[in-house]
Amino acid sequence: MDSSLISTTKENKRENNWIGRFAPSPSGQLHFGSLIAALGSYLIAKQNNGKWLLRIEDIDPPREVEGAAKQIIQTLENFGFEWDGEILYQSQRNLAYQQAIDSLYQQKLIYYCKCSRKQIQQRNQGVYDQFCLNRQIRDPLAAMRIKFNDAFSSFNDEIKGACCFSQPADLEDFIVKRRDGLHAYQLAVVIDDIDQGVNHVVRGADLLDSTPRQNFLYHLLNHQPPRYYHLPLVVDADGNKLSKSKFSPAIESHKASYYLCKALAHLGQKVEEGYYHISPKEILKTALQNWQLNTVPKQSVKHFEVNAN
Ligand SMILES: [Zn+2]
Repeated sequence: MDSSLISTTKENKRENNWIGRFAPSPSGQLHFGSLIAALGSYLIAKQNNGKWLLRIEDIDPPREVEGAAKQIIQTLENFGFEWDGEILYQSQRNLAYQQAIDSLYQQKLIYYCKCSRKQIQQRNQGVYDQFCLNRQIRDPLAAMRIKFNDAFSSFNDEIKGACCFSQPADLEDFIVKRRDGLHAYQLAVVIDDIDQGVNHVVRGADLLDSTPRQNFLYHLLNHQPPRYYHLPLVVDADGNKLSKSKFSPAIESHKASYYLCKALAHLGQKVEEGYYHISPKEILKTALQNWQLNTVPKQSVKHFEVNAN
């Protein structure tokens, strides 16, 4: 075999090995906080010649806003983003989630729990106390919890460094299937990331405390966890996360360049003056060339306005 062909094939393999994703939930339109996650995950994946996938996390119909998924996709296009491959919808993945649940149950790693939130509050201030662990309940209308192992309470984040969670609430046996029959977020995310080959997870720091649980699930499912990059949250003057309603209304496509500049600034990236006058696609291209992971803030960033001059 031609040796140059071998090296080209190897090169391609290496280049395509990096898989990242953006995974919004359609509980509303895209807002500034989610733009930061979209932008950060896109730039990190693309700077490493990786793939960037789009997944719609429509796993929770009661929280879904009609038409939001479509609007999110349209907004991403208007902001110049291009994703690789087909969009994955969690609403079409119930079979995969249920297979994982069945397997974990057969291995006695999860158990049924009939406790209400009120009971858990009364018994143990809202932190689950393994009340049902040995009750041998078999009831399809009960929730299912996973026996958590405290050894998974810490991990290393590529941006924030060593992270450790030691509060009782972080270490409780968490729910993988809800009482209403819906699969829980923690489980769905891990199954999807495994099946999509995602090995670099870039997302907002509001999901930092989900990471030990997800790493534990990776372990039980015999898969290597991804590398994590938790991006700084945007907070108000008092340090509270910007809620969608308060300061972060839906981002408007006709101001795409402005919002991209603002998001870049929040991610600690250089924003050149001319940026405001070029198209979103051009901004993304230039931002990609200038991207610096080591200037991304490790802590939350206060909401600020960027002068659009
Ligand atoms: Zn229980």
